[in-house]
This record gives sequence, C-alpha cells and structure tokens, in this order.
Amino acid sequence: MKERNANVSGRDWDTDSESLTEEEIGRDIRKIMNNGRGRPPYPEQQAGRGRRIDEINRTVYTDEGLTGYETPRRELTKEDKKRLQKQEKAERRIRRRINAPYTFISYAFVLVFLMLIGYLVYFNIYERDSIQNSPYNKRQDSQTRYVTRGSITAADGTVLAETHIDESGRESRYYPYGNEFAHIVGYDTNGKAGLESVCNYDLLASHYNIIDRVTNEFTGQKNPGDTVVTSLSVSLQETAYSALGEHRGAVVVIDPKTGDILAMVSKPDFNPNTIAADWNDIISVNTNSQLVNRAVSGLYPPGSTFKIVTALSYFQKNATFADFSFDCTGILENSGHTVHCFDQTAHGQEDFEQAFANSCNCAFSQIGLDVGADALRSTAESLLFNQSLPCLLGGKKSSYALKASEGNAAMMQTAFGQGDTLVTPYHMALIVSAIANDGVLMKPRFVRRVESVDGNVVTKNDPESYKILMTRTESDQMKNLMEKVVTDGTGSGLYTDWYSAAGKTGSAEYRKEDGQTGTHSWFVGFSGVEDPDIVVAVIAEDAGAGSTTAVPIAREIFNSYYSS
Ligand SMILES: [Zn+2]
Repeated sequence: MKERNANVSGRDWDTDSESLTEEEIGRDIRKIMNNGRGRPPYPEQQAGRGRRIDEINRTVYTDEGLTGYETPRRELTKEDKKRLQKQEKAERRIRRRINAPYTFISYAFVLVFLMLIGYLVYFNIYERDSIQNSPYNKRQDSQTRYVTRGSITAADGTVLAETHIDESGRESRYYPYGNEFAHIVGYDTNGKAGLESVCNYDLLASHYNIIDRVTNEFTGQKNPGDTVVTSLSVSLQETAYSALGEHRGAVVVIDPKTGDILAMVSKPDFNPNTIAADWNDIISVNTNSQLVNRAVSGLYPPGSTFKIVTALSYFQKNATFADFSFDCTGILENSGHTVHCFDQTAHGQEDFEQAFANSCNCAFSQIGLDVGADALRSTAESLLFNQSLPCLLGGKKSSYALKASEGNAAMMQTAFGQGDTLVTPYHMALIVSAIANDGVLMKPRFVRRVESVDGNVVTKNDPESYKILMTRTESDQMKNLMEKVVTDGTGSGLYTDWYSAAGKTGSAEYRKEDGQTGTHSWFVGFSGVEDPDIVVAVIAEDAGAGSTTAVPIAREIFNSYYSS
C-alpha cells in the first residue's frame, strides 16, 4: 500500500522505494538532511533569517560529489561568520525600527494600566472615607431607605445621638444632651455637621447579625445602622460646658498618651434637636457664628501661650536656658518700637524660668530678637503651624506669617504671641499634648470603634503616634518651664496638693469691630506632671487676662477629672 506524505522539500514522494532509482533516493535524503539542519521547508516564503540561511546554504554547503548517503560540507570561514554577524545586526536594526510603534503602544498600555491600578489602590486607602462620607454621595441617601441611622455614643456607651421612630414609622434624630455636645456630635438635618457628617457612612451601614438582616430585607423592614463609639467623656464635656459658662470661646480636653478627644466645647452653641425649626434664626444672625466649631475652626491670636514656641526655639538654638538673664523695667524699646509687660508690671531681674512664669513680654521680645525670624519660623512649622492638622472634623490651619524681612518691631510682637500669628484652640492642645507625652504627638482619636447594634466590632482605631514634635530633652525642658507657671507664676490658681499641673496662660489682645482693644483669656496645660493625665486648652473671648478667666475654667475641668 502506498502512503502519501507531505514532502517537506515541497515535492510529494512515495514511501514505496521500489519505484525510485538510487539516485532519486540519494537526492531526497540529502534534501531531508538539509531540512534537519534547520533549512525551512519553503525558503521563498520565509522572511529574514530563513531566507538568509537558505542563501548561505546555497553558498556554503555545496555538494562535492555524491558518496553514499553523506553530504560533505565545508566549515564556515571567518569572513562568512563576519558577514553573518553583520547581516544579523542589520536585520535586528530593521526589525526594531519596524516594531517601534508597536513597542511604544505596548509600553503605553502597560503604563496606563499601572497608573490605573495605582489610582485604585490610592483611592481605596486614602480617599475612600472622604468619598463615602461626602454629603454629595447620593448612595448614602438611598441607604436611609434600608437602614435606620445608628447611634453615636460616648466612650462609656452613653448615647449622644440616636434615632427615634414614632408609631407611624417616622424617624427623627434625638440628642439627649442637647446643646452640650452640639458642635462635636453635630446634626443630621439641614446638611450635616460634626461626627454626624464625618461618620455618616458608618451610621448608615449595618453589620447586624446576618440572619436577622436577611429576614428584614425579605420582609421589607429596615436594618439597624452601626454604632459609632467616640472617645468622649460625658462628665468632662458637661464640666467643660458649664465651666465656660456664658463666655464665647472653646475648650478642648485630650488624653496625651492615647490622643483621645475627651471633650470639645464651643460657644455660642445651638440645640441640635430643634435645629431644623431654628435654622432661619441661626443663619440670619451673622455675628454669632454659632454653627462654627471654634475649637477646630476658631483662629485666635495666641497671646502668651505662644511663648511656648519662642521658648522651645530658644532652647533648640542654645541647648540651655542657663545663660539667659533679663532685667525687666515693664517697657522695652527697640528700633523705635515699644513693648509693655501686661499692666506695665516691671518684673525686675529674671532668669529664663522666671521670665516664662511671669509671662514677661519685654524678656520674650528680647528672646525673639536673639533667636531670629528664621529659627522661630522653623520651630513654629515643626509644631505644625501653616499645616493641616490631623483632625477628623477638618478644621483650620494655624498661621505663622512673620518673615525675616519684616524687621524688629514685628519680631518683638510675634515672639510674645501678638503680631499676625493665629491659632486654633485645638492646635494649642496638640502642641501641649506632645510636650506632656515626651515630644510625641499621638494621632487625635475621635472615634474609638464602630460596632454593630448587637455589639460586634466592625472597625477599631488603636492609639498610634502621629509625629515627633520635639526631642525628649526638649519636652522635659518645656514641662519644667510650664510647671513653674503653676508653682510660681501666672497659673498659680491651679496650684493644689491634690494633683500637679503645668501650663501657660495667655492674654491675647485683639481689635474689636468698634476699634477698641479687647483681651482673650487663654490657658493651655496639663495635669500629672510626672505622669500626664489630661491636656486642657481654654479660650474665653474678650474675657480679660488668662489667669482671671481661663485658669479657673481649667481648674474646674482638672478637679472634675480627679474627683471621678
Ligand atoms: Zn516683664
């Protein structure tokens, strides 16, 4: 039986050798052997290398007579190899040129693909929360059809905001503490504010147990939203609220070791239970700005609380306070500019600790001139001036504006907290937290965890450090200065044998709308000097010297902390 095979040399041939002559067999075998060396079956159809090899075969592998089935060949000469290499190079060049557009497109696609992956990763890690909680995110509104908004609680579980459902099934938001937590907890109608706004996504998510959840979805009932457990202390918030009294201003209380926001009060305030009904009244009175959370968004001249920054800058430059001395006459003149101490008091001969404890403006004007504008700016910026602060509620940046070119008068004013510098009470509380915590600022924690209504933890925020604001040595030096303010200086109203306290008072002058000069009353400090417990920042607007108004407010808060 004859079997027909495809002939690799381009010719059909028979497996039945009887019908072929010996010469024909020899020729066919040679062709097959040539193909075995890599000769392509259809040389005329092969581009590049195939055609070249074919050509070389023709040139180099000439037959030198037929002897049996062998095909003798001669070796490649040096010239052959050179020519071969040259040809290969040229071909590679041509191939690269021909392929260039395809290579470019391939790389472009890979690049775009990598960028897309990068963006998705970035979006998921950094932007997710802000997009999820954005009031413009329509998806959340649709969630209210399936989920009953969850509760916001204090750290101990006390409810600060919850949803009430009446007999007809109508939902309303209820705030058991009314005005007291107005700014920090916020509100859910007429737009959103405070934690109600930034935790909106969590409050409208439900991680209720799966069987009940599915049952509810089948029966068309709403699922209960998750609970946001804050770091707030009801007793400290109530104390801070009542201690600030009728003053406009703000109070911030922080645990410096964990970053927990224990209390945050702003006045004037509003009642979140009736905000929808009161809305027109609230927004028609422009001068009150009662919706503004002054703790994080109120920008005030720091007054003498800024001496903390100037003192730190001096220490960073000189590595000691020991070489400093100053004779205060109650007035200092330099470059035609005059500075007074508060009430024009002459403090006399002072070392650095005394100048800080007395809050001596003249001494600190001189210190500012000694330190210089560039060094003071560098210290201020290392303490997060002119930068966004870590704050779940957003808030404002503090601003340090002084430039070296502004001259001595501006330097003198800035060094003791006047000039163009503006801070938020929250920022001052963060600086003092870092001093109390050996230089390390913990990431401020507003929310400890989110849990389902049946108590399972959904997300948890453990304490973590945010940034080292100064060295341990520097924070020890600042603690020491601030302790002297309480034992021997303007903060003596806090002196008690019940607990130790340290801090800095401030009496910040500002220009009122009627052109008169007013004074904001400041205190920033902490209790438990050896082992810090809480940091308190107080500002009472237009309330006189720090020692007369802000210090007694701080004392009430410290007392409340240690009596509970
Ligand atoms: Zn003085």
